[in-house]
Amino acid sequence: MATTRLDVVTAEREVFSDDVDEVIAPGVEGQLGILPHHAPLMTTLLPGELLIKKGGEEFYLAISGGFIEARSDRIIVLADAAERVEEIDVARAEEAKRRAEEKLAEHVPGVDMAQAEAALRRSLARLHVVRRRRRRRPGVQT
Ligand code: ATP
Repeated sequence: MATTRLDVVTAEREVFSDDVDEVIAPGVEGQLGILPHHAPLMTTLLPGELLIKKGGEEFYLAISGGFIEARSDRIIVLADAAERVEEIDVARAEEAKRRAEEKLAEHVPGVDMAQAEAALRRSLARLHVVRRRRRRRPGVQT
């Protein structure tokens, strides 16, 4: 089966680098499935889940937005932040979600809520990825 190189990087570190079968990314216009030999593409990613398929296995990363570039032999994800599921601190994500919801509920007139909305989306993406893994592997603590 054909594979393609996937590199997921942030400004700070390389999060994932391997040959993979398929990538499904949270594109700005919806879920974006990319197989090997994909037509060249570059687009924006929203906060969400990056699903990686490799040899019958699935890996999940939480992405807090960024860009994806696909070439015939390579996929590069430049993420603002990205974590493998096992790296996600659930308590921290829940606390970030609580803070963001509190801020949004305050509804202070004239205050830009975009930051709180973005923080909420990042926290929800992290919690979603953690829950996905729990569903797939019952009994595994994350
Ligand atoms: P917080 O308010 O908890 O810092 P945030 O959404 O503002 O959350 P980011 O700015 O997206 O955080 O990320 C800053 C750094 O912290 C990145 O390196 C990111 O990977 C890491 N990070 C953020 N939240 C978590 C988490 N829940 N678990 C593990 N790493 C996290």
